[in-house]
This record gives sequence, C-alpha cells and structure tokens, in this order.
Amino acid sequence: MNMQIKGIYAREVLDSRGNPTIEVDLRTKKGIVRAMVPSGASTGIHEAIELRDNDDRYLGKGVRKAVDNINNIISGKITGRDCREQREIDSVMIELDGTENKSNLGANAILAVSMAVTRAAALEQNMPLYSWIAELSGNKKTILPIPSMNVINGGRHAGNKLDIQEYMILPVGAQNFREGVRMCSEIYCHLKEIIKKKYGKDAINVGDEGGFAPPLNKADEPMNLILKAVNEAGYDKEIKLGIDAAASEFYNGNEYLFEGNTFSGEELSEVYSDLIETYPLISCEDLFAQDDWNCWKTFTKEKGKNIQIVGDDLLVTNVKRISKAVELNACNALLLKINQIGSISESIDAAHLSTKNGWNVMVSHRSGETEDSFIADLVVGLGVGQIKSGAPCRSERTAKYNQLMRIEEELSDNAVYATNI
Ligand code: PEP
Ligand code: MG
Repeated sequence: MNMQIKGIYAREVLDSRGNPTIEVDLRTKKGIVRAMVPSGASTGIHEAIELRDNDDRYLGKGVRKAVDNINNIISGKITGRDCREQREIDSVMIELDGTENKSNLGANAILAVSMAVTRAAALEQNMPLYSWIAELSGNKKTILPIPSMNVINGGRHAGNKLDIQEYMILPVGAQNFREGVRMCSEIYCHLKEIIKKKYGKDAINVGDEGGFAPPLNKADEPMNLILKAVNEAGYDKEIKLGIDAAASEFYNGNEYLFEGNTFSGEELSEVYSDLIETYPLISCEDLFAQDDWNCWKTFTKEKGKNIQIVGDDLLVTNVKRISKAVELNACNALLLKINQIGSISESIDAAHLSTKNGWNVMVSHRSGETEDSFIADLVVGLGVGQIKSGAPCRSERTAKYNQLMRIEEELSDNAVYATNI
C-alpha cells in the first residue's frame, strides 16, 4: 500500500526566545501532521547551517528564504513519495542541497520536513511516533529516559555571571519516569525558596531553559544551592548532578576566560576535577572547547571510567566528528541534537555509531525551543535512556517531559525506566 505525501506547506512562526523558526504542515490521506524546528544559542561552529534571511526583518533572523526553499523546491521533489521512505527522502533533500553543511537549502528547512515525514509515516501506519522511530532505527527495546533537568542557568542562557551554562539534576534513583519528574519538580520548588531567601525575589527569574539565574559567580555555588534543595526535598539518595560548561563560549582560541581570570586547559581541568571530587557529579558536557581535542583526550583518560563525558559542540551529532572522537578516545557520550545535523536519518546514524562504540547517548533540546515534543518520542524510540529538556518549567520544556509521561502511561506494564547511565 502506498502511503503518499500529498502536500507540504511551510510557514514562519516563533520559538521560545521570540525568534522566527520554521513550522511545516505535511498532508497525507489520513490528515495533516506538523513539525517545528528548534534553535541554539551556544551553537557549535561545526553544526549544519541554520538559514536566516539576514535582512531588516526580525533583526536579520527571519526564515522566509528557508520557508520558500521548502514550499518552492523541496515540496516538489518530496510530494508523491511514500512517507515510510525516511532515508530516501532525507537523501533526496541532502542531494538537492548539495553542500556539506546544508547551507544551501538550510538545515532548518531540511529538518522540518524530515521530522514531518517521520510523523506522517507513524500516522499512516496507526503507530505511536516512538514505535515507528524504534522500527526505523532497528531498536527492539523502547526505554523511558532519565531526564537531566537544568535547574540553574548561566553562560549564554542567562543574564548572570556564571560561566558554566547548565546545572542539572538526574533522578537516577526514581522507580519510573513520572516519579523522576516529581522529584525534580519538588527540588525545583525548594530551590526557588532557597534562592529567594538568600538573594531576594529578583533572583528567581528564569533563564532560557527555565532554570533559575541567580547572581552567582563561582562554579561551585550552584552545586551547594542545588544540594540543599535536594536535601530539603528528601532525595539525597536518588539524585545525581550533571553540568554543561559549554566551554567553547569562554575560550578565546588559546585560553579559557573563566571566573574573571585566564585558565589553561590543564588549570580548567583541575577546577572540574575538584567539582567531581566534591559533588555527586556523574555527567559532564563540553568541559572544553569544540576543537581542543588534547584536553578532551587527557580528561577522558583520567575521569572517563567513572563519569560520563559528553560531547556536544565537539561532536555536533555528526558521524565524522563522532568517528574522530572514538578514535582519539576524546569522550564517552554523545549529546544528540537533531538540528545540529539536520535530518532524522542522520541523527539515527549518529546514535547508532555512538552506542556501537560503547558510548552513552543523551537526546537534547535546544535553548530556543518550540511546543513540538518530537524528541520525547525520539529518545524512547532510540532506546538510549537519557534526555535533557531544561527545567520542569516553561511549556516548551515541559512539552517533552509531559509527552514522556503520556508514553509511559501508554506503555503501561511494558514501560522500562533507564535507572542507570
Ligand atoms: C547545549 O549547549 O547543550 C544547549 C542545549 O544549548 P544551545 O541550544 O544554546 O546550544
Ligand atoms: Mg551543550
């Protein structure tokens, strides 16, 4: 039976920061599915290119060109195809673009269509999206992920002086996903009161990913506040911590500009080692800049046996960069962001290559998000067991956690929660 794409239509809408992004409606005989693409702020230089208009609308951030590329170029090539042909359709778009980094049509344009195609195939086959993704990726076991909830924001995502971009809590000791969400939410509420008491109510405004952004300077201060909140909530045993330094943002090509001083990679490693020794940190992302391979290698050799060393800007969800990192033993986990590479097939390939080499995979949102909860189904379908989608606050963040609670309910007795990372 042919499950044809009958029409594709793209439009410009807004993301959670108020910037334009792309929404696609894709029509099949069963109805219309919709997909929206996210957008980063601490963007890696090796990421696929997000096409922006660079004219006077929206301070140059309009996406009319990318929208036109879908409506006038991609649509004509894809309409009429069977929506189950994900890989072929993604290949057609990649060839049509013809560049290494999707700068011609735009990774944002290609991804929006790619996501909509995945959703359409699920609809046509009367399948939940996560089941179809499991089938597409050859995965036999769907898994509910451990969430990494970002409760204190710094770096490019907040207006404070913290250099480390994300401070996360991971409910590894929860019995299931829903309980994990409850623990994180309760801790978040305790944290709010702790911050309010100590720094006043100005300090409980939230950053781009819904975490608080109090006026802190030192890397360890958020850890202490978070552990106090964890303790007050009564989850000392169940919660571990994670950070994303997003270090490319404070690297000047030679040294790291950290807490008002310049640090060599070795000196910065010592700061991280102290944090790892002092706090229950189990996941550390982008501790070094995107091309500082030597520091990555040395640190992974020293600490990689005990903790997860996650590559985000380092790997950009790109199999070429993942292969290099595997060869050099530069990290031991992939941060998977679908818009870094720009198609669902290539995102699946990135996950496969990582797990095949014994790495962990954490599926991730972007700091500029939308109400689309696609990555919730993606993480369950891939069965990789970890997601980060910000704080348990702001609807573009909770959209993913809420969808995961729905999926857990639907899977019922077959729901498996990843209690280990
Ligand atoms: C990150 O760095 O992991 C992140 C989610 O931020 P952004 O989307 O700004 O890259
Ligand atoms: Mg990151």
